[in-house]
Amino acid sequence: MREAGRVSAKVLREVGARVAPGVSTLELDRFAEALIRLEGGIPAFKGYGGFPGSICASRNNEIVHGIPSATVILQEGDILSIDTGAIVDGWVGDNAWTYAVGAVSAEKQRLLEVAEKCMWAGLDAARVGNRLMDIGARVQKIAESAGFGVVREYVGHGIGRSMHEDPNVPNYGRPRTGIKLEAGMVFAIEPMINAGSHETRQMSDGWLVVTADGSASAHFEKTVAITEDGPLILTTEEGHERPV
Ligand code: MG
Repeated sequence: MREAGRVSAKVLREVGARVAPGVSTLELDRFAEALIRLEGGIPAFKGYGGFPGSICASRNNEIVHGIPSATVILQEGDILSIDTGAIVDGWVGDNAWTYAVGAVSAEKQRLLEVAEKCMWAGLDAARVGNRLMDIGARVQKIAESAGFGVVREYVGHGIGRSMHEDPNVPNYGRPRTGIKLEAGMVFAIEPMINAGSHETRQMSDGWLVVTADGSASAHFEKTVAITEDGPLILTTEEGHERPV
């Protein structure tokens, strides 16, 4: 899973580096697919449940599962969640980051900072001796203390030979509840944090999910293995722990 994670992280970082005003999300998708294949992987998202892209590209009030499009052109002040993953030798990596397109508002900047902090706190809770909901409890506390909403309908997940495996990993919950975390478990931890209410709305294309109140949303994700020595982040590259 390290290799699938390395490829997933490299692709996310390289796509993120191409986020700029005037770029379409379809261009980012084409680049991502080519790089995944160049690195010896298969795009994990393409064809998953019929999804057409190798990335999900979700902008501003869009939470997750945005279909890349030639008509979605990034503009200064946008924020863009890119979620992508690769399959290598039958193992899957999954990761996401939300990028600022040029200079963004103070509120969006604070949202990005808090949502990233939520992800790191969730990852840090992926430890032997903790329970599953300790992850979400940490995320929820940080997000709600900042006045933000934690998406309920979409959650993190186990990951391995399939992208989505049991258990679900919610970004909310009561501490010290849920299954005991054990060495060898691998999770994709992915807080989705809204600047306003946590409520969501599913769009008619069957994929795109937006905030019900139109507020901005941010999404950060890494794949992490639980080991006796603590959380081992798999979607990472040496020297690029933060993909930006
Ligand atoms: Mg995921």
